[in-house]
Amino acid sequence: MAIADVSNLQLLGDGYEVARSRFLDIAKRGGAKTISQAVPSKIADDLFIDAAFYPARKKSEVFIVLISGQHGVEAPAGSAIQRRLMDSVMAGGTLEVIDRDRSSVLMIHGMNPYGFKFSRRVNENNVDLNRNCFDAEQAKIQGFSGASIVNPNYDKVRSILESDLESLAAVAKRIGSEQGWKSVFTFDGFATIAKALTGQYKHPRGIYYGGTQVEAECAIVQKIIADCFVGEKNSILLNFHTGLGKWATTQILTTPPDDLHGKFMPAYQRELDCLYKIFSQKAQGGKDGVHQIRRGDQKPFFIRFFNPENVMVQGELTQWMNSFFGDRRSEGIKLALTIETGTYRGDKVLLSLVRENFQHWNLKDKDRKSKVTSDLCEMFNPRDPQWQASVLRTAEFVGRALVRFSREN
Ligand SMILES: [Zn+2]
Repeated sequence: MAIADVSNLQLLGDGYEVARSRFLDIAKRGGAKTISQAVPSKIADDLFIDAAFYPARKKSEVFIVLISGQHGVEAPAGSAIQRRLMDSVMAGGTLEVIDRDRSSVLMIHGMNPYGFKFSRRVNENNVDLNRNCFDAEQAKIQGFSGASIVNPNYDKVRSILESDLESLAAVAKRIGSEQGWKSVFTFDGFATIAKALTGQYKHPRGIYYGGTQVEAECAIVQKIIADCFVGEKNSILLNFHTGLGKWATTQILTTPPDDLHGKFMPAYQRELDCLYKIFSQKAQGGKDGVHQIRRGDQKPFFIRFFNPENVMVQGELTQWMNSFFGDRRSEGIKLALTIETGTYRGDKVLLSLVRENFQHWNLKDKDRKSKVTSDLCEMFNPRDPQWQASVLRTAEFVGRALVRFSREN
């Protein structure tokens, strides 16, 4: 049974509780070792990060890690992809099968269970976990790395990003422009917004807030990964997100080393070569480091490099993974990737985030609250069947890439 033709579109409609119990169910049926770690909460007692671990049958040489729901409201797509892969690849569907003799597979489900359950992008402390994922052990000794990060660009546009944006017209009025919200992206240059959203550590009620300490969720995930890793030479981590990029188009984001002439560059180059090999034979160079891959009539798949000079995001999970490997990167292949499936236009998604953040802190009106929340869900998990089908195609695409990775490295 091919993934794309199953009637499993409802996978994307599962809320936290259902997704969680189905994930654990599939894991147990497939013989995985399951791990459930409680996430502390003041309002709920059922928040867990769950993991399914399938150790290699013989000597483990390949370590595969898939993570969903680091941004809670984005969890449905990643969770659906994990469950599809666990169902088909693990149980020996018609997909070519991952070489389980030499590969260990770790699925971490719902990294931000609070956000998954209550449809927020951030966790219960309003922290964006993909700006907070500094090494938890190191932080105990050296302090929280985010504390020294300043983001003057966020401060510049803060009055807009933390305001009550009832409508595009209100934004237009606020910034004195006829073009509405869209003009935020141009009036001060798109660069300001892009840099503002790289993360800020100063305004706990703002958006893209990175917190004051490594959050429990990040520490838990780091520990699960560290406990399952047995020094495999080759490793691939995929961190599933939605909301960034073109509609129904999936892109792979890599982060080059901070020092482009430093000691990790040869490793990064080798990792990129491998990335092209496993995702497609026909990757074509595009502009600005965007490489487009086409497969038959599928929507394009992109491999994109974040240029550290333009976008200085810190505290990302993939960055943590790279630091976790450290010098081990000089051997074998260590890929740490963010997978993004695009939804609506960037200005629309951001508007929805701003409104949801404002209502979270200020509104008591339940009806209006639920409308703003369901709006946010639509931005990150569109109900459109075409979009949902693109997520399942991504599962298939990723599944094949993992099979190649497990066999060819
Ligand atoms: Zn995300």
